[in-house]
Amino acid sequence: MKLILLGAPGAGKGTQAEVICKHLGIPAISTGNILREALKSGTEMGLKAKAFMDAGQLVPDEIVIGIIKDRLAEEDCKNGFILDGFPRTIPQAEALDASGVVIDRVIDIEVPDEKIVTRMSGRRVCEKCGATYHLLYKKPKAEGVCDICGGTLIQRKDDHPDTVKARLEVYHKETEPLIAHYKKQGVVKRVDGQEEVADTTRLTLAALEA
Ligand code: ADP
Ligand code: ZN
Repeated sequence: MKLILLGAPGAGKGTQAEVICKHLGIPAISTGNILREALKSGTEMGLKAKAFMDAGQLVPDEIVIGIIKDRLAEEDCKNGFILDGFPRTIPQAEALDASGVVIDRVIDIEVPDEKIVTRMSGRRVCEKCGATYHLLYKKPKAEGVCDICGGTLIQRKDDHPDTVKARLEVYHKETEPLIAHYKKQGVVKRVDGQEEVADTTRLTLAALEA
């Protein structure tokens, strides 16, 4: 299954991507994670992307399109994949269409803006391995410590409230039009994000079956 998860920043795409990855045994590919790793290892691409990311703006299309083309060419993608955070603009979606990739389903996770701002303030990420947590919805076993690798949990710079507002603006302007783009292909299922992650997961898995 070739799957795209759409939704505002903080709608829970990453969390659902991990669940589906385990459920279907196909890789979850997050352009945000790939960019953050490039940044950490100090590659030229990472350095280019940093200013955009810190400001809550999108990284230029040609950079992320290049990343995705390379990643989808890898062996583990041959039976399908989950895209989390790509495409985010119409040119990105058009590049994916043009590369001959046929998307089976797009899950659009909807959460109102007000809820997103509150949610994002609780989001934490492992400094070392990138695993994500939430102070209310996905608590680590020990406060401030990653369950997986023991790394320190920090707040991403772009999860600060002002940057979150900028990211929401970018989402509505650049990314939301993708819903109509994929509706034309007849592949969109809407999932309303719930208070409890497990409830959203149930709806997401149902949207995969239907
Ligand atoms: P979220 O989904 O919570 O916004 P991500 O980790 O997906 O967070 O993305 C973080 C940042 O990385 C974005 O704000 C943007 O700057 C950059 N980014 C990630 N994916 C893309 C993309 N497809 N196109 C442009 N920029 C991207
Ligand atoms: Zn970790």
